[in-house]
Amino acid sequence: MEHEEILSVSNLSVHFPVRKAGLFGGGVVSRAVNGVSFEVMKGETLGLVGESGCGKTTLGRAIVRLVQPSKGGKVLFRGRDITALENNRFRPLRKEMQMIFQDPFGSLNPRLTVGQMLGEVLRVHGVTRGGEATAKKVRDLLDTVGLNREYVNRYPHEFSGGQRQRVGIARALAVNPSFIICDEPVSALDVSIQSQIINLLKDLQREFGLTYLFIAHDLSVVEYISDRVAVMYLGKIVEITDGETLYASPKHPYTQALLSAIPLPELGHRKERIMLKGDLPGPLAIPKGCSFHPRCPFAFAECREREPELLPLKENPAQRVSCLLYQ
Ligand code: SF4
Repeated sequence: MEHEEILSVSNLSVHFPVRKAGLFGGGVVSRAVNGVSFEVMKGETLGLVGESGCGKTTLGRAIVRLVQPSKGGKVLFRGRDITALENNRFRPLRKEMQMIFQDPFGSLNPRLTVGQMLGEVLRVHGVTRGGEATAKKVRDLLDTVGLNREYVNRYPHEFSGGQRQRVGIARALAVNPSFIICDEPVSALDVSIQSQIINLLKDLQREFGLTYLFIAHDLSVVEYISDRVAVMYLGKIVEITDGETLYASPKHPYTQALLSAIPLPELGHRKERIMLKGDLPGPLAIPKGCSFHPRCPFAFAECREREPELLPLKENPAQRVSCLLYQ
């Protein structure tokens, strides 16, 4: 990992109007992402974890502008503000910022063979101009992601889930990106296949100097691949630090509860599970004050009124926590 920021996100929000306000008010807004700030260093993997519905996928999509962020936030990529860039000026940058999706089947065109699909990506982005150069590049991509070259004429339905994810990775790599958002890339795969894909992503990172934002809900997977980890709850980051510190010494009560649910591999070892009250509230009804207070085992009166900021801990400024217990 280098000490150079490739991505800087500040105060990013994504609010969707669910129902427009009428004459007497009553508008409803879904606040999927709420004022999120973090940075990603060149060459690192930043894991982004949280329960389903916490806003992590929407955040990833807002960074690459697959969904429109709300006004006020900023995304800097290599120091350049891409939040308000016109589409024609953003297009060349799209090559550098790629995304790998959870459901590779849904993101692949069922009518194109893998060779045609990769060839089209190469041509559209001007990487190669067709003919033998494109055919060779397609073969190289298949080699890179560990797929047999003879699969070039296969359609998506002829691949297994793990092979399809390899095709998805090949498609992302086709345009020589430097930054990839991996959105739950192994969640739909069998456990045995998950480790192969994770190891492939790690190998590719080393080989091509890639930077990843790795979105997942499985904390064990995130621990294995990430240099740093950000924990998200109801559209906000509640804790962010290096992986080792987070797993050894989590500070936010939500992180502590998530980690307490991971089974220990050693036989006979048990840890006390922290059970949270209730379910994750929806983005339409975010609680006032600290949004975690209705479920937090340590909540006190002030938590219902005051919203904590994501601030560095005194004893370890590299660990930032959004909790009034530390402020
Ligand atoms: Fe719990 Fe209060 Fe900390 Fe929120 S601010 S996590 S409610 S202790």
